[in-house]
Amino acid sequence: MKYAIISDIHANYDALEAVLAEIEKEGVDQFICLGDVVGYGPQPRECIQKVQELGCITVAGNHDFAAIGKTSIECFNTYAKEATYWTQRVLTDKDKKWLDNLPLVKHFDNFTIVHATLYAPELFDYIQTSYDAYLSLQILEGSVCFLGHSHVPITFFQEEMISYTLNPEIKLSNGVKALVNVGSVGQPRDDNPKAAYAIYDTDAQTVWIKRVEYDVEAVGEKIRKAGLPEILAERLKFGK
Ligand code: ZN
Repeated sequence: MKYAIISDIHANYDALEAVLAEIEKEGVDQFICLGDVVGYGPQPRECIQKVQELGCITVAGNHDFAAIGKTSIECFNTYAKEATYWTQRVLTDKDKKWLDNLPLVKHFDNFTIVHATLYAPELFDYIQTSYDAYLSLQILEGSVCFLGHSHVPITFFQEEMISYTLNPEIKLSNGVKALVNVGSVGQPRDDNPKAAYAIYDTDAQTVWIKRVEYDVEAVGEKIRKAGLPEILAERLKFGK
């Protein structure tokens, strides 16, 4: 079985289209989305519609829930708050209902998907250290968990010690649990502006993190036209 795993689209439809064009060449059996379909970007409705069309198995991100008032945005910075209010105004009731029905975690035969962490998915904490990774790995029942949220593609392994790799080709092996952050389609933050996504081949027991160039300037224009904060256009150029 071959899965395409996308995360943190953040209403960046241009990046999503570029990613989907590449995935089409791969030929996958199933799409998976790890949340934050909306928030920050100028085309939340288009992104929701596309994710629905793809039959994406989707879990909720903090920005998805923020857009429907289901999670607090007190800890959001000013421009994230501004973008959230903008998104709330743009989405239809139908869009909001779809977001409201997204689960926080989903379990498959041998893997799990979540937006932020396994130990408290509803808190949307960040996994930044080996200890953070350990907290989720120790309660992971299958061998792999895919997540997003930090917008930085990185994989943690649990053997005797917790280790990590930034290698884009991740070999999975039985008995070694892995936490794979697939990066962000619509707002990468690893100093690489290219959109990120993952291909997971269960037969080959391998995950590939892929990067695709898209028209960052065009999205920046749409962000300005929508009246969203300028910084949201600027950061896309630098992958920040
Ligand atoms: Zn996000």
